[in-house]
Amino acid sequence: MLECFPFRHIDRTQVRPIAELSSQLEYVQVAGVVHSLEEQGDKRSRRLVAQVSDGTGSLELTWFQGISWVHKQVQAGSRYLIFGKLGFFMGRPQIVHPELEVFAPEKMNGKSFLEPVYPSTEKLKARGLNGRQIAKLAFQLFEALTPADIPENLPGDLIRKFDFPSRYDSFRQAHFPTGADAHKKALDRLKFEEFFFSQIRLNLIRLERHRVSHGPVFTRVGDLFNTYFRDLLPFELTNAQKRVIREIRKDTGLGRQMNRLLQGDVGSGKTVVAVLTLLLSVDNGFQGCLMAPTEILAQQHFDDISRALAPLPVRVALLTGSTRGRERKEVLEGLKGGSIHIVVGTHALIEDSVVFHQLGLAVIDEQHRFGVAQRASLWKKGVLPPHILVMTATPIPRTLAMTAYGDLDYSVMDELPPGRLPIVTVHRYDSVRARVMDFIKSEIMKGRQAYIIFPLIEESETLDYEDLMKGYENVKAYFPEPSYWISMVHGRQSADIKETNMQRFVSGDTQIMVSTTVIEVGVNVPNASVMVIESAEKFGLSQLHQLRGRVGRSSDQSYCILMTGSRLAAEARERIRIMTATGNGFEIAEKDLELRGPGDIEGTRQSGLLNFKLASIVQDRLWLDLAKQEAVRITGEDPDLSLPGNRIIRDFLLSKKGKTAWSKIS
Ligand code: ADP
Ligand code: MG
Repeated sequence: MLECFPFRHIDRTQVRPIAELSSQLEYVQVAGVVHSLEEQGDKRSRRLVAQVSDGTGSLELTWFQGISWVHKQVQAGSRYLIFGKLGFFMGRPQIVHPELEVFAPEKMNGKSFLEPVYPSTEKLKARGLNGRQIAKLAFQLFEALTPADIPENLPGDLIRKFDFPSRYDSFRQAHFPTGADAHKKALDRLKFEEFFFSQIRLNLIRLERHRVSHGPVFTRVGDLFNTYFRDLLPFELTNAQKRVIREIRKDTGLGRQMNRLLQGDVGSGKTVVAVLTLLLSVDNGFQGCLMAPTEILAQQHFDDISRALAPLPVRVALLTGSTRGRERKEVLEGLKGGSIHIVVGTHALIEDSVVFHQLGLAVIDEQHRFGVAQRASLWKKGVLPPHILVMTATPIPRTLAMTAYGDLDYSVMDELPPGRLPIVTVHRYDSVRARVMDFIKSEIMKGRQAYIIFPLIEESETLDYEDLMKGYENVKAYFPEPSYWISMVHGRQSADIKETNMQRFVSGDTQIMVSTTVIEVGVNVPNASVMVIESAEKFGLSQLHQLRGRVGRSSDQSYCILMTGSRLAAEARERIRIMTATGNGFEIAEKDLELRGPGDIEGTRQSGLLNFKLASIVQDRLWLDLAKQEAVRITGEDPDLSLPGNRIIRDFLLSKKGKTAWSKIS
């Protein structure tokens, strides 16, 4: 109940004359007499309508739910204090599902001037537990509580340093503020507290892992790594790639388990880093696996890696859901016996039937598609937990990364291979589609290829699917066979068909790929130079950026064309503007976070670490930074939290124990 915070407060002393209500106002409070009260409409549209007037004008109140309950409570002829969200119907003010209470001016004087408004749900409301009722419960709760019931959980020096109110006072003020300043101070403290304990936990998890976890030791850089690096690598590594490989070598040589998150913008060359790390593992007598989120991607990684490593004495295998029968049996045996050194696959790799001889390293590509628990299950695949390298192409804003992944070591590749031209990104309306198609034609004439992407948010949505088929027919009309060939890939196809169609595009047999977002992650066709995104307004920023990243993978000029209808909501317009203004994934991720909030960023909801009740990692960054600093300092000085001043932290953590199992998860 304490942590069920009001989402805002209203000033109960302000009662407006009905005549002053205007569409500028959102929530209003009026006091008036209910004249009539009647049920209208038949079964489906049944509603209860009341007319209220206060001498200056009249107002209509409507209920669609809990009708009989309200009917019993409200009496025509009585005067009520009425609060709710103001709307206008045919020029007349009305409030749907208002909060009502008998008007008793003598009671108003004693009231705190800011009254809490609590969230409720339709179901609770229908049973009479609306925000007002919850406020009454909260009020009773605080009547009963004493400061001893809400003990302090922050060390005294922190409280003094930030001049925080006590924990008891903070909760009290958060619910029933005595003034705006006191309210803000209370919220600051509670927000700090949320950040602080989550950061303490993350730091403890990391320290603990470093202290007790043993991992395979990669002591040497052997022939495989060296030969590949010296003789087979077709390009010079970027400085960012070199730096990350150094970090990985250092991590894996220490004897403790590596658990590293590698963030690299699309096209920054993460695959090579994975390959070199896998070779390092094999050089030291261990196997390695690379796990990708889709079959297409696993297949492509497998093809690329087996081609790249062909001259080396390394056996590479592929294992996905569609590896069946004898092939599957052979792979499983090879992994168990140790004759297969590197296996590339999908989440089929984490099934129980997959047993390794000696797994030393698991690389997880495009991590945001995997749940934390799936990552964790890889731990069980070795006698020693294998080193884990998580690679993500969705740049995560720094704030988010340190909040959600604070327990991982963390590398960033913020450099693209040299000679890349920025992708030219433009916005075009559907009305000029013909010109866009002409442009694609001109690129195909130059020998290039193009993607045309349709939004299929849920692969199962029939409507979107029909859009895709229509779109495909449309594209076909512009690009008739046999002058042009088109591949189409979508989630309803079998893995075989998907693979064949994809392969035809990869090999250049088809010039155009019409697809849903299944190709969003990882696919690498350097010859493709145009990315057309249909109904671009339906995509989020990071997804648009991912899709755009499928082009611009060679030294030639690439283009991204965002198609939309002519009517755009303000936020969609802003997304399109950002996309055309910058190609920097980290910048885009920051904007995405601002526009959507952390709850929506893919893969973060599951982390469970971002579900703060009050704090927002966007709006309260300052407190997040301060909380992190303090948490790092305290856990660094006193990892057991055994110093007298820190015991209070430890006790609090212990009291919360059992609510989250995150400490057990990699
Ligand atoms: P991502 O980080 O998006 O997974 P990839 O690993 O697919 O990127 O690499 C994108 C492209 O860049 C590939 O064609 C790859 O061969 C190429 N590449 C990677 N590193 C370099 C480099 N240092 N110099 C030149 N090209 C590179
Ligand atoms: Mg990749």
